[in-house]
Amino acid sequence: MRTSNLLISTQREAPAEAETISHRLMLRAGMVRQLAAGIYTWMPIGLRVLRKVENIVREEMDRTGAQEILMPSVQPAELWQESGRWEKYGPELLRFIDRHERNFCLGPTHEEIVTDMVRREIRSYKQLPATFYQIQTKFRDEIRPRFGIMRAREFIMKDAYSFHLTEDSLQQTYDVMYQTYSRIFDRLGLHYRAVLADSGNIGGDKTHEFHVLADSGEDQIVFSDTGKFAANIELVALEKPVGSRPAPVNTLLKVATPEQHSIQQVCDFLGVAASQCLKTLIVHGKDNTLVALVIRGDHELNKVKVEKLAQVESPLKFASNEQIRKHTGCDTGSLGPIGLSIPVIVDYSAAQMSDFVCGANADGYHLTGVNWVRDLAEPNQADLRNICEGETFPNGSGTVKIARGIEVGHIFQLGTKYSSAMKVSCQDESGNAVTLIMGCYGIGVSRIVAAAIEQNHDEQGIVWPESIAPFEVALIPINMHKSQRLREAVDTLYDRFKASGIEILLDDRRERPGVMFADMELLGMPHRVVFSEKGLDVGTVEYKGRRETTSTDVSIDTIVDFIRHKLQAGKN
Ligand code: ATP
Ligand code: MG
Repeated sequence: MRTSNLLISTQREAPAEAETISHRLMLRAGMVRQLAAGIYTWMPIGLRVLRKVENIVREEMDRTGAQEILMPSVQPAELWQESGRWEKYGPELLRFIDRHERNFCLGPTHEEIVTDMVRREIRSYKQLPATFYQIQTKFRDEIRPRFGIMRAREFIMKDAYSFHLTEDSLQQTYDVMYQTYSRIFDRLGLHYRAVLADSGNIGGDKTHEFHVLADSGEDQIVFSDTGKFAANIELVALEKPVGSRPAPVNTLLKVATPEQHSIQQVCDFLGVAASQCLKTLIVHGKDNTLVALVIRGDHELNKVKVEKLAQVESPLKFASNEQIRKHTGCDTGSLGPIGLSIPVIVDYSAAQMSDFVCGANADGYHLTGVNWVRDLAEPNQADLRNICEGETFPNGSGTVKIARGIEVGHIFQLGTKYSSAMKVSCQDESGNAVTLIMGCYGIGVSRIVAAAIEQNHDEQGIVWPESIAPFEVALIPINMHKSQRLREAVDTLYDRFKASGIEILLDDRRERPGVMFADMELLGMPHRVVFSEKGLDVGTVEYKGRRETTSTDVSIDTIVDFIRHKLQAGKN
């Protein structure tokens, strides 16, 4: 392709609100443009990358024997009512009413639709197992769309659903999907890790997430230093510590802590470690109540664990400042568990503490030397927190290490959740009706584009893995408009590249060389060939790989083969 026929809308600066490197670079490279919060147009260059990701995903899914379908994004409420999710899904489900007063939603996922399709179409056990997939637009009304297409409201997902007569058959397909996902992320040229996403059952294999490792990732991945175990931090269950808490030593004191609001401020002011303080958080409970959650000052609350507690409203919602003041008479900075009139749930490790510091439920005051049982009731305990780096795993598989990851894929054994609710059965060989067992397998196709940039960039811009670069080679002629001779040589070389099946972008804009170089680097072209009249005189062009700092002269006659070999080497 020629740049004269391609909308290049590169920018020197990205808007200040773009927080992550991939968001900034995608805007600067003109790959996407925002239409509304979390809703983007894919521009020509961005779309080329997206299509390459899609094609790799499609090829690998086809290889497994999964059948491609395309389901609608507009979905009738009836199916969601049947599965029970019309009530449960919450505000992420964008609902609307048509001219006949019927309820619809924009599909955030397609379990209901595919399950309905299968119950109508699959007649015999001979048609099973079967896997259907699609690459399609999803809509989720995310509370905080951010990082550009990474957490968008409208995005592209590959979603697959498998149907089985037996658990064994489901496990077989699940294993194939696990391997297929690994192949996909290998081909995409990404550093990734498959992690368990099921805590309850460490060592179980009912669900795995695939994460691209990157510092900007929203998820925390917990690894064991022995390499045996990897899981999403959300799901690493912690047990109640054995042994009793140390005996109280200090007396209870109420101390003034004026203007000290955060744990860090209070610790600095009182000269104590955060691990000696309690943090009290007030959240919404069931039936319009409030609940206080108490963790150690140096620990993080684990949202997923908390949402599973019977007393707490899910999705988790923090109480407003007004609600807190109404129930406790103070601001968040002075909260503590003593004397609260709402239920209090204390994390196991916070319940092990003695002589601790906590808020006094009076503005500007804290309590020191506080002890469970002596100063307040034996706590109601639960597992509320994230595991920390350096701790030992509860199941004895080594010491905890933590890295950040971007979730790009998720495979899940659904069992009969949807097939029972929607009554999907099939006769087995002996004529018995069997409720079908399901698996589902998602890949964030559009999110992968951003994740790839998070992992592959430098000061100049994007550094695409070859497999998903918008073009394989950029051909940059110097001052071509001034030399008919150069123009002809460039056209011939361009045709030779095209004839050999290499995806080439010829920069035929009347731009200064510096502008063309900067654009092609920003756009992340893996290979660059510069053609000048001087080179033509001696029969060479200048070649530079995107990650290289210097260029080399290569003869005009061999440059196509030279690049072909480089591309081939990249594939192996
Ligand atoms: P997350 O925890 O990031 O919200 P999820 O658990 O809701 O993800 P799934 O329902 O498993 O995601 O969807 C499958 C895949 O779709 C995810 O692994 C992710 O790559 C992608 N995905 C989910 N939500 C978004 C979004 N808002 N924008 C872009 N991609 C998304
Ligand atoms: Mg989500």
